[in-house]
Amino acid sequence: MELLRARQQGEAVAVGPGAVGLHASLDKVIATMNTDPVLQAQVADERMQISLLWDEFAEMHFGTINHCLWQASPAECQNQLPAEQRGRQPLLGTCQPGKCRNSVLTRKNAPYWIAEEGDLQDTLRRKRLSPPRRESLEIRLADVQSVTTQFATLEA
Ligand code: SF4
Repeated sequence: MELLRARQQGEAVAVGPGAVGLHASLDKVIATMNTDPVLQAQVADERMQISLLWDEFAEMHFGTINHCLWQASPAECQNQLPAEQRGRQPLLGTCQPGKCRNSVLTRKNAPYWIAEEGDLQDTLRRKRLSPPRRESLEIRLADVQSVTTQFATLEA
């Protein structure tokens, strides 16, 4: 409901590979509310809005790191599974938030990424690290910063 309210104000509510799809689905719910005369009569009824959201986002999974829109075909987390086991459910342990087209990140996810960015910067600044370890942390930091810089595009 928070995302729907913000979207009704014309805000971008998410970043990440699935953000365009999330915005399109929220806009679809808003258009349904605005154009159906029966629904318009009930528009103040939050239960009706929640019901529309359930219909549109039946497969959505909410997480700390990101949220998953879950459609089987673009799901990066399925790639390591045997063919017969793919497409059943998201595998959050092998999620690729910055790459998978099901992945969306909202302001609720920002604290995790900002904390990881700070930890990585601290480690790189303070610790003596072997060159391979330093390189791997720098690669991770670049990945994390590719997400944290996108959060700046969301309204506070
Ligand atoms: S990789 Fe992550 S976002 Fe993509 S389908 Fe799997 S759990 Fe969902």
